[in-house]
Amino acid sequence: MKANPLEINGEVILPGERRTLNIPVAALVTNSDVDLTVQIIHGKKPGPVLLVSAAIHGDELNGVEIIRRLLKLRQLNSLSGTLLVVPIVNVHGFLAHSRYLPDGRDLNRSFPGSAKGSLAGRLAHSFMNKIVCHATHGIDLHTGARHRANLPQIRFDPKKS
Ligand SMILES: [Zn+2]
Repeated sequence: MKANPLEINGEVILPGERRTLNIPVAALVTNSDVDLTVQIIHGKKPGPVLLVSAAIHGDELNGVEIIRRLLKLRQLNSLSGTLLVVPIVNVHGFLAHSRYLPDGRDLNRSFPGSAKGSLAGRLAHSFMNKIVCHATHGIDLHTGARHRANLPQIRFDPKKS
């Protein structure tokens, strides 16, 4: 059985295709566009859609590298299902080496967001409605905050699994 085409932000991704989409979500103070960049590996065979995201906190860099390594896996060439990755969700924070958005808001505390809210709220809303909505499963990578050591942990809601 062959997978169906996948449509994200008006772009159609065919089974077996690997694409990178830049979805405009905001602007910098310089008026340069800020895009949510999502890479899509859409397998030829149907299956679950896994989203892996990182840097919702802009200073948590480990997840960005984890995704870079994930994208190199040879197994992705014979994937059943779809992998969506967003290596940097909080682009503003990442560029400024900051956990937060420029207005001090914590993107991780701004979900599900709103189309007319703060920058954090709008970013959360776009991420949810343009990318997360396509996923059947998700892994959002975090690390310990600056000057804080966290033990490895997995958090999930068993009622939603
Ligand atoms: Zn975090």
